[in-house]
Amino acid sequence: MKTAIVFGGSKGIGAQIAREFANCGYFVVINYNSSKLAAEKLAAELKNSIAIKADVKNYKEVKALADEVIKLKGQIDVAVVSSGISRKNLIIDTTEDEIKDVIDTNLIGTINAIKAVSENMLSNHKGKIITIASMWGEVGASMESIYSASKGGVIAFTKAMAKELGYNGINVNCISPGLIDTDMNKDLSKEDIDSLIENTPSSRIGVPQDIAKAAIFLASDDASFINGQVISINGGFII
Ligand code: NAP
Repeated sequence: MKTAIVFGGSKGIGAQIAREFANCGYFVVINYNSSKLAAEKLAAELKNSIAIKADVKNYKEVKALADEVIKLKGQIDVAVVSSGISRKNLIIDTTEDEIKDVIDTNLIGTINAIKAVSENMLSNHKGKIITIASMWGEVGASMESIYSASKGGVIAFTKAMAKELGYNGINVNCISPGLIDTDMNKDLSKEDIDSLIENTPSSRIGVPQDIAKAAIFLASDDASFINGQVISINGGFII
């Protein structure tokens, strides 16, 4: 049985990715930071799953999680980094704490997670790593400049990791979602969502399953020649 770690697996997109991996027969490690109850409930619901706390901002915690998984299951086959936060503000009103929080969670957190799992994958000469960026990391968003910068960094880091780890049998790819119906967007008004739908050729917003299905494909043998790519899943909002 293959083992998949989903960083940020307690909620939203990550939780659906955890469900899909469990349905496909993986042992799933659900990483959480603050949503302990949700993560433990999901682990109980899925067969062959555990929830482990680690703040992705803290390398020591993430490394301890990876070491615990290796001790328990022998190896890490797949790592998906879905942990992330968003903040909306004009740059002139953005505080230093907000900047640090977003960059540390989204970019440094992704770097920490990949650094922590890559040693085991390198010694096994195999592994699949999937990062989650955002369409705003591709084109930039007004009022979400720090978020855009963090996700642009995730895209560049994914490509660099594919170049560095690819020769050792490891695939590193990025999924770049458009608007997906999760708690991250709970503050958007109906007018905002309607306007986004109007500008989306597929005429809807996304659901976590749209992303989870792509993650399963990228982790499969069928995707073994896909490396260092950004798969944009946004219904055509950005082409
Ligand atoms: P969500 O429902 O708010 O879930 C965010 C997840 O990130 C939670 O599981 C949360 O865990 C985890 N997380 C946050 N800070 C963490 C930390 N310091 N350490 C470990 N885990 C942490 O949001 P979502 O929509 O599923 O977002 C998932 C990813 O997709 C994010 O990277 C987001 O930027 C990206 N994305 C989302 C959209 C969208 O429209 N929803 C679009 C593009 C990209 P805890 O609650 O346990 O802390």
